[in-house]
Amino acid sequence: MPTTIQQAIQTATAKLKDSSDTPKLDAEVLLAHLLKKNRVHFLTWPEEPLSQITERFFFDLVERRAEGEPVAYITGMQEFWSLKLKVTTDTLIPRPETEVVVEQTLVLIPDDTACDIADLGTGSGAIALAIASECPQCNVFGIDQSKSAIRVAETNARQLDLSNVSFSQGNWLEGVDAHSFDIIVANPPYVALNDPHLQQGDVRFEPKTALVSGDDGLDDIRTIIPQAKKCLKRKGWLVLEHGYDQQPQIMALLDAAGFRELHGLTDYAKQPRVVLARL
Ligand code: GLN
Repeated sequence: MPTTIQQAIQTATAKLKDSSDTPKLDAEVLLAHLLKKNRVHFLTWPEEPLSQITERFFFDLVERRAEGEPVAYITGMQEFWSLKLKVTTDTLIPRPETEVVVEQTLVLIPDDTACDIADLGTGSGAIALAIASECPQCNVFGIDQSKSAIRVAETNARQLDLSNVSFSQGNWLEGVDAHSFDIIVANPPYVALNDPHLQQGDVRFEPKTALVSGDDGLDDIRTIIPQAKKCLKRKGWLVLEHGYDQQPQIMALLDAAGFRELHGLTDYAKQPRVVLARL
């Protein structure tokens, strides 16, 4: 008797119990990726048999997941702001909490105003692409120090057919003209060098350069703040994602740099996660 979809998912779920918090979901996403089907298909056709070769390929993917590899790197894609994005090991896997950055940035963009917006450390382009897709009147510029990440972001822009976004390689805002942007957004690396969570779960597979920023996790934010001050237009906004315990220090840095209208925001898990500041 050939293995059915339902049986394969059950077996895979059991194999992933110890390595994932979401074993059934992971199994379904991996099979959906392999069969190029929507997960709903499995609910509708649980008795459908899998070919021997599909079964073998599926359990190869399940094995990779059981060894800790993130689902997004196995499938090469992650959804963010309902956009399907290509991701590779050169980019972070976009997080749901980063959608708060997008949400808040959209609030700052006046209707029908063609703002110039920069996304620093753009990675797969997640934030830049989400904003560009919501605001066709705006020009969005994604910057990343990694050429490979820029290539991924450009692929995503092409696949999403977004022409109001462009990407270029750079070291934060180094060399960028003064007063270039109405809004600067960043999800920079902000994890402290010795943070134990770097040794746990999906994070182990992600690029360290996109995660780690010196002993207290604030090195890059300390670089970005003065650069943003120079590159923002008058009354421009800076939107920074940060670690759950960093909000007071970041507020102090922004205040010392002369930013005003400081607002701290929490993510969906009610953790302090984003700061808004105005020049
Ligand atoms: N939020 C991520 C984490 O905790 C860190 C992302 C970042 O450094 N920008 O893994």
